[in-house]
Amino acid sequence: MPEGNEIHRWAERHATAFAGKPVRIDGPQGRFTDSDMLDRRKLLRVMAVGKHLGYDFGRDRILHVHLGLQGDFKEGSGPLPAVRGALRLRMWNATKVKLPAVPGVSPRHRWYSEDDGKATLAPDKVAWMELRGPMDCSVYTNAQWQKLLERLGPDPLGDDPKGHDAPERAFAKIAKSKKPIAALLMEQDVFAGVGNIYRAELLFRARQNPFTPGREVAPAVLRQMWKEMRPLMQAGMLDRRIVTTLAKDRPHPRGPVLSEETHYVYRRHGKPCWICGTTIKKMENFAGRNLYWCPLCQSGTTESV
Ligand SMILES: [Zn+2]
Repeated sequence: MPEGNEIHRWAERHATAFAGKPVRIDGPQGRFTDSDMLDRRKLLRVMAVGKHLGYDFGRDRILHVHLGLQGDFKEGSGPLPAVRGALRLRMWNATKVKLPAVPGVSPRHRWYSEDDGKATLAPDKVAWMELRGPMDCSVYTNAQWQKLLERLGPDPLGDDPKGHDAPERAFAKIAKSKKPIAALLMEQDVFAGVGNIYRAELLFRARQNPFTPGREVAPAVLRQMWKEMRPLMQAGMLDRRIVTTLAKDRPHPRGPVLSEETHYVYRRHGKPCWICGTTIKKMENFAGRNLYWCPLCQSGTTESV
């Protein structure tokens, strides 16, 4: 599942590609039946909060997209490709798509899950996008979008650091909770946009035991994790590769980051910790996703299981 950094990135790309002009929208296989409400309207802006996208068409109409575990976008320049596979929705720029494609050149931006950050199509060249497999794709009113905002915790990448995205609400929730901190970090009403990679890596960087109940986590640790969320998630937005290790902690501290040295614990179970050499552990399905941690660096005060 894409984390918040990925969602903010899509919002920026799609705003550059489509906002400020009328866009065409359809659901060519009948999987999105409200396209008439939006088709040929001007897209005003694209909003991102946590793992949610909102394409604002004005007049109380916002296209809400949540990718969930399976959803993804594909984009490209040149003509609309033929409809293939299960397709929920297409959005395209009528002016650009009318232009003939350069023969043999209709670059596509690949799905995030396959993307290694090397094949990006510049957003101003994007003429169309396809949406497949989202958890939700529906037309919201402004009131519905507002309600969603109220339900979500602060977003480390949000643009309202003194209001909606101020961290104190999240700190207060955690300070009252008996749930393990690793579970709380996955709850979108605590922090919006933090996913499984950042959960594991933030806890490691804070040397925090993932099983400590929220109310026993030191306030200084929470503040440190919050402080790290934004820069770490922004780094993930730049090259689509999430790097959470410090150069000094990598076996190869100089030169480009090797892909096996991008994380401290995420998907490194069975391998030695970069810091202490202890074997990294994995627990299946902890608050919905696999948890990874170093039992020594993150031993803390609570016994790990
Ligand atoms: Zn360790």
